[in-house]
Amino acid sequence: MTDGYPYLVKSTWSLPRNLRERHAIRTLDPAQPRVSIYCREESHEDAPWFVASFVRVMHDGQPRWVWSTEYPTADGYTFWIGDRSVGNLVGDKPADLSDSTALSDSAFRVRYALECQICGLRLERRADELNPVLETLWAANHLELSLRGLMSLLR
Ligand SMILES: [Zn+2]
Repeated sequence: MTDGYPYLVKSTWSLPRNLRERHAIRTLDPAQPRVSIYCREESHEDAPWFVASFVRVMHDGQPRWVWSTEYPTADGYTFWIGDRSVGNLVGDKPADLSDSTALSDSAFRVRYALECQICGLRLERRADELNPVLETLWAANHLELSLRGLMSLLR
């Protein structure tokens, strides 16, 4: 178990070449609270998949963990992992994102598919279900976790 930094990815130079070349590298904002999820199941222990990274934003005075399209490295950078949200809801209805007020509706909820593209391990959860777990991890300075570990916390 890793206590906060250093992260699984020690530096952008330790990334597989295809990730390094194809994916935008940016400077990590160390002041931005962030919890990241990787998969390193036994079948691909030496080749982790970077599943998700969430950042903490304040919304109406409440912390909310939102998807980041970037994954952090221990040397202070991030690399692009893309957006894997699989549905935006207002209450239980699909949100209309052409309506800008949908995002600020208190009933707005994002559903995420956290999936390892190597072994297929998959977890689907709404943001409001993930929020308390991510908040607890962050408060404990546990800034990176395996997908398997996250699944066991949500059980
Ligand atoms: Zn995996």
